[in-house]
Amino acid sequence: MMSMMSMMSMMRTSRLTLALGLVAGIGVARGNAQEPRKTVADLMQVASVKTALAAAKNNEPQAIDDQIRFCEVPAASFKEGDRGTELRRTFQQLGLQNVRVDSAGNVLGDRPGAAPHPRLVIAAHLDTVFPEGTDVHVRRDGTMLYGPGIGDDCRGLGVLVATIRALKQASVQTPGSITFVADVGEEGLGDLRGVKQLFGDTMKGQIDRFVSIDSTGLSIANVGVASRRYRVTFKGPGGHSFGSFGLANPIDAMGRAIAKIAEFQVPGEPRTTFNVGRVGGGTSVNSIPFAAWMEVDLRSSDRAPLASLDANFLKAVDAAVVEENGRWGTPGMISVVKDLVGDRPAGSTPDDAPIVQTAIAVGQTLGLRLGLAEGSTDANLPMSLHIPAITIGGGGHGVDAHALTEAFDTTDSWRGTQNAVLLTIALAQK
Ligand SMILES: [Zn+2]
Repeated sequence: MMSMMSMMSMMRTSRLTLALGLVAGIGVARGNAQEPRKTVADLMQVASVKTALAAAKNNEPQAIDDQIRFCEVPAASFKEGDRGTELRRTFQQLGLQNVRVDSAGNVLGDRPGAAPHPRLVIAAHLDTVFPEGTDVHVRRDGTMLYGPGIGDDCRGLGVLVATIRALKQASVQTPGSITFVADVGEEGLGDLRGVKQLFGDTMKGQIDRFVSIDSTGLSIANVGVASRRYRVTFKGPGGHSFGSFGLANPIDAMGRAIAKIAEFQVPGEPRTTFNVGRVGGGTSVNSIPFAAWMEVDLRSSDRAPLASLDANFLKAVDAAVVEENGRWGTPGMISVVKDLVGDRPAGSTPDDAPIVQTAIAVGQTLGLRLGLAEGSTDANLPMSLHIPAITIGGGGHGVDAHALTEAFDTTDSWRGTQNAVLLTIALAQK
């Protein structure tokens, strides 16, 4: 869930000017100090790299076909299996080694280099926000593709596979190794379960650099916005609206809580937000409800403001319950349960980190203007572990992500593929 609309509004393009003119070298995490570092400019002189970039452009129709093909396999969060099987087959066809599915359902395939490290993981997420049963047929009209998930993140999956294909066709050899991953559980209540499994178990301690290709456009997200999400349930005895009048009301208690939340003051910098996204409850207009629930999303690009927002939120809910019980003189009648249903860590990769500078240099070399951005993506998790990580867009232009009307404009989308290919090569250097 790149939330491109909010990402675009937060593009920190001004910071990019700091980096203009830089041609970054790659970090020396496990490199040999005697060997000169290859810069992105150096790589552009390598014949196989030129071939790979040409392949990325020439193969774009295939990348778009793949994007559509993956998108037409339903993949709600927790139900990514069929789409994962499709990716697994494709990884095998394109010659990745040790193609495997881990216990969470992440699909992995290796492209070994001269040495196991540095090891780059480049990933795109399998899951979508759309529930089972959604019509995922993709309609094509000129340069436009229409279909739920076509940008977020079928574009990422298409570019991931196009990158593997370009490296293969050009026989690119890298000093470090690359693992390609199609991961589960990025969206919503998936709560990053795919990358949590990847970094916590499947590839624990083995990942030196991480890039997520998420959604569309061209940007480098190096700040991971943290979120905490709750489902809050208010309960009471319920009864007849006329006959039992005088009982505390769970929906009224929830209304009191929402009124308090709506008045929260939050900092604009670091950007901190709150949203009551869904509510429900009650049985009929003439019944005092016995239950009501709401789902609430709290976010910040920094830990401290999120912690304080979280504390205020919990306090507001408890105070609302006390007020509703007090209103009717029925202490304890309404009870509340606050279930934490999402917890994404905050993190960031500094602007001057080699992985960020390399991504900027790649963009400049290809004549792209890449802005730095904030996002809430798979990269949050490695960022929170202090592993160099960024999220890039897959190119093209997306509209209406997370809506049934989602669409993707393929105009010049090959530029996004080239960007991913060159970045992958550059990050598989020492
Ligand atoms: Zn996404």
